[in-house]
Amino acid sequence: MSNQNNTRILLNIKDKSIHFSDESVQQEVIKGVLSHVVYATHSPDHPDYCTKCGCINQDNSIIKNGTKSVTIKLPKCSNFTTYLKLKKQRYYCKMCSHTFISQTNLVDKNCSISKNTYHKVLLEIKTKRSVWDISKSNNISHTTINSWITNINSKFIQPHNSLPKNLSFDEFKSVKEVKGKMSFIFTDADTGKILDILTHRHIGFLKSYFFSFPLEVRKQVETVSMDMFKGYIDLVKSCFPNAKIITDRFHVVQLINRSFNSVRTQVMKENKQYYSKLKKYWKLLMMTQDDLDDKEYKHFKCFPHLMTEQQVVDELLRSSKELEECYWLMQRIRLSINNRQIDYFEDLISKNYKHLPKTIQTTINTFNYHKTSILNALTYEYSNGKLEGTNNLIKVIKRIAFGYRSFTNFRARVLLISNTMLPLQL
Ligand SMILES: [Zn+2]
Repeated sequence: MSNQNNTRILLNIKDKSIHFSDESVQQEVIKGVLSHVVYATHSPDHPDYCTKCGCINQDNSIIKNGTKSVTIKLPKCSNFTTYLKLKKQRYYCKMCSHTFISQTNLVDKNCSISKNTYHKVLLEIKTKRSVWDISKSNNISHTTINSWITNINSKFIQPHNSLPKNLSFDEFKSVKEVKGKMSFIFTDADTGKILDILTHRHIGFLKSYFFSFPLEVRKQVETVSMDMFKGYIDLVKSCFPNAKIITDRFHVVQLINRSFNSVRTQVMKENKQYYSKLKKYWKLLMMTQDDLDDKEYKHFKCFPHLMTEQQVVDELLRSSKELEECYWLMQRIRLSINNRQIDYFEDLISKNYKHLPKTIQTTINTFNYHKTSILNALTYEYSNGKLEGTNNLIKVIKRIAFGYRSFTNFRARVLLISNTMLPLQL
């Protein structure tokens, strides 16, 4: 095999009109970095027409007119930054008196980075690596890489001719650029596939987004799972006339847990005797009652005698009547949710809790406000469970991006890495 061919294979250059000389590879210092430079000549077939005026070449109207050297960045070879110094053919058009240069499919017009390099970087953008890392390992500025990502973002468009039957809405803490800090994400509740990510969750904005789907398409949506953000209810009612709202069970449990926890910290502050105990063993209070161990006696630092987990909880609840009542309310609500006991849940939230702390009252009021959709959650299988994985991915991407500023790039990155949105054409 000739050197010519070896070089071609190593560099993965398919354009047969690029020719390498025998001594084509040199080591040179470029921008302070020892690099590999490959010298080559581009001598394609004589052009059929002038690229400036479009005139067909006849009777030698287009003639050769010297050469022009361009430097093209290739993917790294053996970890060396690699350049192709390509001598291109220049032509002169007698019809329009302009000159033009031969084009290769190695690079896009007016671009000095080869398509191979672009594709290599693109594959890396799809992995959980920071742009900074990718920039360093490919010797391409992060500004360039970010501009590619921005460009890709505009190619991710959710087709408006269909929607899955079951949707899942959620929001997440977004990038710095976003006002209000929360961005909106919605997925297919059956597959977990991301359907789109939108800058913010303002209801007017979301309405106009969903209204751009034809009514026939919106009518096909049967359920929407979501948290208890009030705005979403109005959104679903006006955009999806046939959809049932499902409050995600996880959010119901989370809300009652949080309000119980705030009661605990309040008691903790007021009751010095129990301060450290309530602070140290809060996890036992949050455990499901049935999961507490009542057999094994262990040493707990804040208690002088050996005790079981169950005994520790009993002791903690002795700190305050109020705390004890809130504890049982939390346990019962969680039980009714986990066992899907509709009547039990309805009964629990219909009771009067005026004697309990404000935070518990507010939570119970919220449950009453969202009663229908919470009861739907106990009837239907759907939840935001699949979205949780996506939210973890979002956290990872934010971390590797060192706090993305631009929402556009952030969105593109999430969609690329999650690999769930199909209509991307490059
Ligand atoms: Zn011309």
